[in-house]
Amino acid sequence: MTHVSIKELTKVYPGAEAPALDRLSLEIPTGELTALLGPSGCGKTTTMKMIAGLLEPTSGDVMFDGRSVLRDKPENRGVVMVFQNYLLFPYMSVAENVGFGLKMRKIDPAEISRRVGEMLELVKLPHLGDRKPSALSGGQQQRVALARALIVQPNVLLLDEPLSNLDAHLRFEMRDLIRSLQQEMGITTIFVTHDQEEAVVLADRVALILDGQMKQYDRADVFYKRPVDEATARFFGGHNFIPGTSDGHSFECALGKLALPAGAVSGTGRLTFRPENVRIGSGQEQENLLTAQIADIIYLGTQTRLKLIVCDTEVEAVVNPNEIESYGVGDTLPVHLPRTTLWVI
Ligand code: ATP
Repeated sequence: MTHVSIKELTKVYPGAEAPALDRLSLEIPTGELTALLGPSGCGKTTTMKMIAGLLEPTSGDVMFDGRSVLRDKPENRGVVMVFQNYLLFPYMSVAENVGFGLKMRKIDPAEISRRVGEMLELVKLPHLGDRKPSALSGGQQQRVALARALIVQPNVLLLDEPLSNLDAHLRFEMRDLIRSLQQEMGITTIFVTHDQEEAVVLADRVALILDGQMKQYDRADVFYKRPVDEATARFFGGHNFIPGTSDGHSFECALGKLALPAGAVSGTGRLTFRPENVRIGSGQEQENLLTAQIADIIYLGTQTRLKLIVCDTEVEAVVNPNEIESYGVGDTLPVHLPRTTLWVI
């Protein structure tokens, strides 16, 4: 049960011009799962290593329950890190791998055997204790790595892209398993991923890191509704960014004068709205009703992506395929931008 505070954490690798991580601050409440989300090279692994004590920060602090752990050796921090390439001991059996942390703590062998059995049940590998890791599939190895980490009941669990080597089906399964075990055991967990969907599904909160700097730290839905800037919105699949001016009630731009939701900011900026919030209009809407010409139709299976031209401006929409069955490229159609789905950045 540990509250993790990361304060202005910075790492400049020797000889590097820019910091790999620049003043990252995060509060992770006890028992919550936070995802560190960002593209390759943005500083996620660097952050994890500093929390685990495997890398010294250039400046800043890492605190567990209000106490700095920077002077604590890695083995005394109560942190366990699971890497993307599992790192199981090849000459040990699955059961020996899982029980390794308890053996190091000199726990009684009968107790180790009992807890290993329980843990293998939890990760759904009860019959594979005697196998060697080389005789397991990737997904099974990943579950052994997770069992080995959880059995020592760490204060903080660090998962560095643990699903990246698994195929899509196994990723879903492991995602659910990680979430249920983490909640059941109430372990404060930090999960690194470059996959926005994975972060959204798994995490209580998401920290988006771009180029070593944290852009936004929020509950997942906020990234879709109220992104702090264009780069953040784009990372979450945003496409529509229309420059213009807000007076707090409406936004004057190439699309015309559009009504804004209550509480909108004033000044120049960019209007953004999610492609999936662009509606095909009935023509009866009282505001924010526009006429669009279809420039392209991309069928995605369960959804259809439309490239629309509205007042010489490209707008992207994602709609239900049934809604546009009767339309083709070049056709015009009414589109509605509900005011509650608009956001000015
Ligand atoms: P990925 O998703 O590819 O694992 P990441 O977000 O985890 O990336 P980091 O591994 O933290 O990124 O690396 C952040 C930056 O620091 C990168 O530019 C990387 O090249 C650099 N870096 C990482 N380790 C070192 C090192 N030991 N020495 C010098 N630079 C490093």
